[in-house]
Amino acid sequence: MTTVLEIHDLVVRYGAATALDGVSLTVGAGEMVALVGPNGAGKTTLVKTVSGLVRPAAGTVSVSGRLAQVPEGREVFGDLSVDDNLRLGGWRNGRRGRDTTAVYELLPGLQRVRGQKAGRLSGGQQQMVAVGRALMARPTILVVDELSLGLAPVVVDDLVRHLAELNREQGLAVLLIEQNARLALHLCGRAYVLEAGRVVAEGAGLDRDHRVMAAYLGGA
Ligand code: ATP
Repeated sequence: MTTVLEIHDLVVRYGAATALDGVSLTVGAGEMVALVGPNGAGKTTLVKTVSGLVRPAAGTVSVSGRLAQVPEGREVFGDLSVDDNLRLGGWRNGRRGRDTTAVYELLPGLQRVRGQKAGRLSGGQQQMVAVGRALMARPTILVVDELSLGLAPVVVDDLVRHLAELNREQGLAVLLIEQNARLALHLCGRAYVLEAGRVVAEGAGLDRDHRVMAAYLGGA
């Protein structure tokens, strides 16, 4: 399988504290992979390193194709319309990217609110805007940070359905970073469990692995 994201032996330190201690992880083309773990495990640090905001002390990150991110907390521009939020996702190096039509086709719920200010939308709709904005970059891999945070289960279900559809029908690879382990492990074919900066478990079917669930994921 072609690899679209390959992280090898990544070490990140904040001063004397080691946030990532030799993390390796791969995502194949068209694959959906979960990264789960408790608060403070290093998930956010990994996302920041992948997107170049944090410089590793050692290790490598290689991306083949284009990587786009749905950031934790969504970070939509509240005073701008949904349409303008999407357009911002299409700007690359000062050049205008794809037009919004394809994204509205993929996420029809956004089409209905395209003229509204993003800040007036519900949390779930804002999360959808963040996904749509990331899709504007025509990514081969989408890194989604805490999709479910602060959202009602029924809203999360809807978002998850869309992500699974994008994965299945568009072949979009997804790295889903989640504190909600049950959700992420159920959705993704393969998963990594991060604890205190190290990968402590990885593979398929971890949600059926009682040892892993009890030891690292609070039996979630
Ligand atoms: P959360 O779910 O709370 O975001 P996380 O799994 O994303 O947790 P990180 O935020 O990556 O974990 O933090 C990993 C470790 O690095 C934690 O011990 C945290 O206290 C520490 N850390 C994170 N950012 C900094 C920073 N800027 N300076 C110092 N230590 C930091």
